[in-house]
Amino acid sequence: MSRTTTTAAGPPDGGDRPTLTRVLESFVPEPRLGPNVAERPGEACGVFGVYAPGRDTARLTYFGLFALQHRGQESAGIAVADGETLTVYKDLGLVAQVFDEPTLAGLHGDLAIGHTRYSTTGSNRWENSQPVYRSVGRNAIALAHNGNLTNTVELASEVGQVVATTDSELMAQAIAERMTTAGEDLPDALTAVLPGLRGAFTLAVMDKDRLVGVRDPLGFRPLCLGSFDGGWVLASESAALDIIGAGFVRDVEPGEMVIIDGDGVHSSRPFAPTDPRLCLFEFVYFARPDSKLYGETVHGARRRMGRALATQAPAQADIVVPVPESGIPAAQGYAEVTGIPYSDGLVKNRYVGRTFIEPAQSMRDRGIRMKLNPLPDALDGRRVVLVDDSIVRGSTTRQLVQMVRDAGAIEVHLRISSPPYRWPCHYGMDTGDRSTLLAADRTVQEVADFLGVDSLAYLELDALRDATGVPDAGFCTACLSGDYPTEVPEADAKFALEVGP
Ligand code: SF4
Repeated sequence: MSRTTTTAAGPPDGGDRPTLTRVLESFVPEPRLGPNVAERPGEACGVFGVYAPGRDTARLTYFGLFALQHRGQESAGIAVADGETLTVYKDLGLVAQVFDEPTLAGLHGDLAIGHTRYSTTGSNRWENSQPVYRSVGRNAIALAHNGNLTNTVELASEVGQVVATTDSELMAQAIAERMTTAGEDLPDALTAVLPGLRGAFTLAVMDKDRLVGVRDPLGFRPLCLGSFDGGWVLASESAALDIIGAGFVRDVEPGEMVIIDGDGVHSSRPFAPTDPRLCLFEFVYFARPDSKLYGETVHGARRRMGRALATQAPAQADIVVPVPESGIPAAQGYAEVTGIPYSDGLVKNRYVGRTFIEPAQSMRDRGIRMKLNPLPDALDGRRVVLVDDSIVRGSTTRQLVQMVRDAGAIEVHLRISSPPYRWPCHYGMDTGDRSTLLAADRTVQEVADFLGVDSLAYLELDALRDATGVPDAGFCTACLSGDYPTEVPEADAKFALEVGP
């Protein structure tokens, strides 16, 4: 059980924390308790930033985070600064649970950053929620991070006092130390620290009067720049620009740092140039369908994946049923090409987020029903092509297949719009180690047998790349191919900072 109090004092550990905070005094039990939640790929985090003097930047950030909720549902936070003070407010929970009208009304400033978190490193506890705060003499910084570093152990040995358990804290600490000891401003400290980081890091960082956006040299995670009357915006996905009425200006380039202040937007390149490797799974699953990546809409790409899958692996069936919601565009594409009618056969409970309430055992046994419910009218007596975007661990998919059969389907042909997920991700997607991945050491037929389907086919990697519409743009495919674009630490650095509650 947990107990929540509001305090204006410092943290229990005497560490470095801004004044407006809500402290969870005892730890919320297990992270990711919701039924089947751990079965899906863990979302990457969402980052957002806005520089808009005279505007309600906290409210703009709130709505930006609202649009990025799908990228992380464990905690949310906003930092604001007005040139004099920098304040962070954050807590465990969804954006709408963490912030209310009085809280937002108390957050004033010309610039702000925000974060929605899924814990890919570090436990799900208040201390690890973001933005991370550090005071730096008369200044202060706040940092929001999407990704995973792969040299956390090395970095931890270089920075001084480490007060929390995430790679994001380490980065903030390293930047703050540099500002303190070398007397550098934020852009100079970032320029010094960033080249020593390895792995995936898309950042929104701020001090009291400047907003900075960074993408690592390989650009694993997306970040775009937008503008509106009197302001500039940084966002993980372009859909977060739309919600606040900002126009898309351009992607922040891999290896680029953009500094936004009263003089506008300045660009610099702190890293040696290299070929980009955007996470291919952003197209498959992470990103919203209404976002654009490499200039292509994600929805269009997913539809093309379905078309390619139909060409590659047609089936004799009566209906094509998507696993909502990320399987919908691929199912539409599959139906288009095969001529098999598209049909809703599963209803998603739209209001399921991450839950911290442990369901009763009897409910967990029916876990999938918390999230999806079948429509027997559509499924009964039919041969069904079931279309999903990926299979990671497989237990949920197995339950799903059984549920479709229980609803009367006489055949289930499973089509997956990505290749078998065989290798763990070290760049911000929480899939656990290799032993947890269903397809790691199984043939496609063995996976089909485990899932209890009549047939199973995955989209081939080249076809997936083509379906993005930008096959030569540069992608990370490590979880699908084993081809890691960076050195991967032997001792899995992802868990090096993990601590128990
Ligand atoms: S390993 Fe997979 S999930 Fe991770 S960044 Fe690469 S493509 Fe994305």
